[in-house]
Amino acid sequence: MKTTKPYHLGAGLTGQPILTPTIPPSTMAGGIGQSTSCDCLTPVGQPMVNSDGTTNVAYYARQLDGSSPNPVKGTLSLMQIGTDGTTTTTQLASSTTANLWPGQIIPDGQGGVLATWAIDPANPPAAPNPYQAADVKAGAVSSSFNMPMSPQNLARDPNTGIPTDLPLVGGENGTAFVSYGSNLASFNVNGGSSNWNYPSSAGITSAAYTNGGGLTVVDAQSNVTPLDSGGNAGTSVALPSVGSIQPAWDGTWQGTIPGSNIGAAAIQLPLLNWGNSLWAWLLRGSPSENGKATQMPYLGLLPTCPGAQTPCAQEALDDAIGSLRSLVSGNCPQCQTYVYSQPNLGLTQTTHSQYLARSYKFYDATNSSALAGDVLCIKHSIFNIFASPCNLSAFQMKLQINQLWALEKPAAITKTPSAPGEGLVTFWDPSQVNAGLGNSAAAIGNQATIFHESLHGVTGIIDSTPFGTSLQGIFGICIDDPSSSITDYLEFNVFGIGNAPKTKQTGNGTCLTWQPQWAPEEQHDPSSICLDSTACAGGSGPDLVATVTPSTSARPGRCLLEIYSRFGLCWVEHSRRLSEFRSK
Ligand SMILES: [Zn+2]
Repeated sequence: MKTTKPYHLGAGLTGQPILTPTIPPSTMAGGIGQSTSCDCLTPVGQPMVNSDGTTNVAYYARQLDGSSPNPVKGTLSLMQIGTDGTTTTTQLASSTTANLWPGQIIPDGQGGVLATWAIDPANPPAAPNPYQAADVKAGAVSSSFNMPMSPQNLARDPNTGIPTDLPLVGGENGTAFVSYGSNLASFNVNGGSSNWNYPSSAGITSAAYTNGGGLTVVDAQSNVTPLDSGGNAGTSVALPSVGSIQPAWDGTWQGTIPGSNIGAAAIQLPLLNWGNSLWAWLLRGSPSENGKATQMPYLGLLPTCPGAQTPCAQEALDDAIGSLRSLVSGNCPQCQTYVYSQPNLGLTQTTHSQYLARSYKFYDATNSSALAGDVLCIKHSIFNIFASPCNLSAFQMKLQINQLWALEKPAAITKTPSAPGEGLVTFWDPSQVNAGLGNSAAAIGNQATIFHESLHGVTGIIDSTPFGTSLQGIFGICIDDPSSSITDYLEFNVFGIGNAPKTKQTGNGTCLTWQPQWAPEEQHDPSSICLDSTACAGGSGPDLVATVTPSTSARPGRCLLEIYSRFGLCWVEHSRRLSEFRSK
């Protein structure tokens, strides 16, 4: 008899077990001369990794005795495993008459967790309040309560007969939400008092934490309804021809169109503005989608105010990219002279125009928790480094976008380059977006900034580097100047406003260091690059060997990835492009 799935903590995507917690065994007696003790008899709930890295898992250690009038008794416990492997166990409840089935655990948003379970007596009568919860803070039960607004009967898995987990959503300020299918309740995790109840005759299929403390719910008849923080429903959008409507973590929506052979179609709905939660969605909890709490929003939306006289960041940037598309798709001699004619840029006006015409994604850099490595890099590994360059350092990749932004508070951070076929992906500081439209100087400033960012996205070339191709080098801009000088260059030369930065062309004598203009000289065939030095020994094999050992080259400390070859090439961390190989 196996009541639960095998459980281990996996390390990342490899699934290699790094820690196997000891789940106490349960015992079974009452057979004919048989007695069994096995952890396989102990029901274990779905584990949840909180934002501090602590793994939480609930289990019900039972004593089963088929010959007793009360054949089930036991103790329900929460095991919390710290990142250092230390384990804390907290008793949640016990029973002498019932199975206590562990249910979902979510972060309580206050550093603790909310654990739920179902009381399922072995013999009638049923429990009057079968759904239970406990808020556990600092390794102790802070409060324990009947789940509010819950039905009297347990919903059960049709295959196992075991009660199904209650789906939960976390909110802010001690608020959480639970769906019972035909209704959805807001309650306080500190004591379980009910805030409000939302009935749904069609049945709730999805609920996402949004609307400044409310939810956006989807019902089984494909109505999408916003609820405010008081549980008041706004105007529903009915999409009866679309099934399985679900929001994505970037705020877009998907659904299925019956008969269309489209598995997941993009749905035209306003972007979902995810709220600040660690467990924001009824169905998948967090963007990790593997039971780990993630700070939301994952990809924060920019401030928006459609139709307002003074535009918000989203409308100002939408307007600016529209103007820029017109400029670059038309006759633009100054674009040719000052941008596309630069040979080391490797960009034509046509290619740039086609890139700008793709759908773009703009987010709020200050309010996005996605890891930089996940959203600013084309997915890559050390084994396909040449196919998928990323201009972030290993340290930068591990930062959330809001943390990366906070280091230097740039106006914009762009995915450099975009993936094949992808448009511009940029995270903006809304406070540095000019509130202008049309042909105002403020709006032109935004156009120049998007022009600058789009050069990163379409070419993969970064602002500035002493050892490789960079925009400042290509445009002959003084290395002493900040990257905003690239925007200044475009404003002055393409749009005819502002002041020119210090450039070689103008011979400004106050610049101490000009950027080099590397030509894309070392064009190696990636298939000729050997990642195994022993296989390459002998001299007749491929001429390059890559290794991640620290540099011993002429540029110590600057080279995270060293390329050894007949010529001894150093591949500079900030210039992960074939075109930027530089002979020592
Ligand atoms: Zn830049």
